Amino acid sequence: MSFTFDARRRATLTAVVDTFVASVPRDDDPTGFWAVKGSDLQVDAAVEQYLLEHLPEEELESLGQLLDTAALVGMKNQPQAIREAILANLGGIAPEAGLAVASLCQLSTMIAYGVMDDQGRNPLWAGVGYPGPVSAPPATPKTITTIAPTAGETLSADVVIVGSGSGGGVAAAMLSQAGKNVIVVEGGSYRNEADFVQNELFAYQTLFLRGGFFPSADGNVMLAAGGTVGGGSTVNWSNSLKTPDVVRKEWADAGLEDALGPEFDEHLAQVFARMGCNQDVALQNAQHERLAEELRAWATRTARWIST
Ligand SMILES: Cc1cc2nc3c(=O)[nH]c(=O)nc-3n(C[C@H](O)[C@H](O)[C@H](O)COP(=O)(O)OP(=O)(O)OC[C@H]3O[C@@H](n4cnc5c(N)ncnc54)[C@H](O)[C@@H]3O)c2cc1C
Repeated sequence: MSFTFDARRRATLTAVVDTFVASVPRDDDPTGFWAVKGSDLQVDAAVEQYLLEHLPEEELESLGQLLDTAALVGMKNQPQAIREAILANLGGIAPEAGLAVASLCQLSTMIAYGVMDDQGRNPLWAGVGYPGPVSAPPATPKTITTIAPTAGETLSADVVIVGSGSGGGVAAAMLSQAGKNVIVVEGGSYRNEADFVQNELFAYQTLFLRGGFFPSADGNVMLAAGGTVGGGSTVNWSNSLKTPDVVRKEWADAGLEDALGPEFDEHLAQVFARMGCNQDVALQNAQHERLAEELRAWATRTARWIST
């Protein structure tokens, strides 16, 4: 039997979404940020579509059972505080249920802040001071020739590398420079600057593995990885730190030859030179500035505490 969202499940999903992206009455709400709830932005419909497209049938059935249980206790007719308690209790039933509730929360908020209307705007952005896309993508031509082999077609190479990320991409370049005929097999699509439309949801769907953040098997950690040509190097933040000595030592202890030697330093220097790494653009955003301030204050407090 294939899974469906019937009217009851759909109404319960809407109540779940509106619990995570809740309308909060406030007098000081000049942009309407607090008043907007998820279903006002059609987040419930988008979550439903995402679940149907990404979850295997078995997981959809489990989710259906979770929604049915929430419906039994009248989730959709309860006030915010009770709905929050219902979700907390449902999440505590079993690790899988906790994971489902956490994933629904994450999906609801991600879509709420990422979704755009016909004018390319989102009513929540003004409240958080986000201007939205500020420019059209540049018309940068694509420089890599990709091929999509047809069924039965045979390709030959000296080396086949699976994955075009930071590891695979560098290995392919080195082998190619050494005269090898290299094929790089990449599961994601090829996109470059011309495709970067400054829309977070679109970026997750087109550039990230599994369409964005996803939980580890035990649900304890959320993971993010690139799923496009270039892998993580296409989507990462380019913070470039030389591999710390403690990590190199760990690798050496695990049997990696040369991890502690000068050759390794030479490799790092080459990568830094190729990427043009420097400290000139290390401006911190407001969040990082607050974090740094608080850490400095904490360090001062701790130092005083240690000295007394
Ligand atoms: C959002 C984000 C921000 C980050 N910021 C930083 C940062 O600032 N500084 C930093 O040093 N690191 C950062 N990282 C981490 C860094 O990008 C990764 O550690 C690095 O890219 C890992 O390289 P990799 O080659 O192991 O894998 P990846 O770069 O993830 O490449 C794997 C590639 O293999 C492809 N693939 C997987 N399975 C298959 C298959 N079966 N068939 C075909 N193709 C397949 C994937 O689509 C992907 O393109 C960030 C990562 C993310 C996701």
